[in-house]
Amino acid sequence: MAGSNNIIRLAAAGVQALQPYLPGKPVEEVEREYGIRDSIKLASNENPLGPPPAALAAIQAAARNSSTYPDGAGYYLKHKLARRLGVNATQVTLGNGSNEILVLLAEAFLQPGLEAVFDQHAFLVYPLAVQATGASACIAQSLSAADPVQPLGHDLAALAGCIGSRTRLVFIANPNNPTGTWLQEAELRAFLDQVPEHVVVVLDEAYFEYVTEPGYPDGITLLQDYPNLVVTRTFSKIYALAGLRIGYAISSPEMAELLNRIRQPFNTSSVAQAAAMAVLDDEDFLTRSRSVNAEGLALLYGGCVELGLRPVPSVGNFMLVDLGRPAMPIYECLLRAGIIVRPVANYGLPDHLRITVGLPEQNQRVLEALTSALRS
Ligand SMILES: *Cc1c(COP(=O)(O)O)cnc(C)c1O
Repeated sequence: MAGSNNIIRLAAAGVQALQPYLPGKPVEEVEREYGIRDSIKLASNENPLGPPPAALAAIQAAARNSSTYPDGAGYYLKHKLARRLGVNATQVTLGNGSNEILVLLAEAFLQPGLEAVFDQHAFLVYPLAVQATGASACIAQSLSAADPVQPLGHDLAALAGCIGSRTRLVFIANPNNPTGTWLQEAELRAFLDQVPEHVVVVLDEAYFEYVTEPGYPDGITLLQDYPNLVVTRTFSKIYALAGLRIGYAISSPEMAELLNRIRQPFNTSSVAQAAAMAVLDDEDFLTRSRSVNAEGLALLYGGCVELGLRPVPSVGNFMLVDLGRPAMPIYECLLRAGIIVRPVANYGLPDHLRITVGLPEQNQRVLEALTSALRS
């Protein structure tokens, strides 16, 4: 038997080098550590409105059947999504959060000797999913912080330049987390036109429903022109169901069939499926979520500019801000004031914080706490 010291050396090579994902601190942990109450978490891009009543009712009803396994094929939710999105149900894959789908894609297409491509400041789940398979990563330089349109945004020319004969996957988030930057349909199409046939492009649209900018593409309409495209979306962000873990992919039926081979038979729970069905019907909730977000984003942006900081223009429900100094001391000050935001040094951005847009009074509280943190 190996002693526990040796256990790490027994792991697959890709796993040995992995660093676990660092989530935003839970409210309970901060309150325990700092002996405070009434703290707020604006660290994980959750919807501050909480789930709508219709979702809560569906959760309660579904909970009664918790002794039986869920419908592993998610028949009703898949059909509902398909109708809503104008695709066939055979094109839908449900996941335990869209995170699971990103991991399934890495498992399906990568192995040692192959490569994935993503941006320097891309969502951290991509490098984790890739590394676990033992494949390598080609990391494309982002646009510069001084870029007049999309500071720190994806540089599609750099991403295209990374693609080679060993490349199997390209991950693109639109908009990207943590930068909040986004790609226009024309530039995205021009990029996809250059992608060779042996490469699958994953278009991560976790914040799709928040974006109202003209020229912002709907990835699903691109599928007919680009069969190697997979679009991922989630119920964790605008739909306010992050705790239930449910997301989905839209792709060609062949791609969906491939993902179906490797997913766990019951990867999404019956409660999550029921809540997702209910929230899909609640158009008013989406409208309200969008308007609370737009107002909050404008307030946070303006407030940060007034404080002499450099916020990055965002189309998501969060904002990256350049403090012009190391972010950790400011982050700590905010924690002591009961406000949890997200440090992003692990994204290569040690002078930035990412702030999730909250309710009006929460946004106000962040700006006040930032003001005093910057003074001290
Ligand atoms: C939050 C997020 C996701 C998805 O999270 P799930 O909860 O697993 O659906 C995916 N991509 C990006 C860029 C995100 O920010």
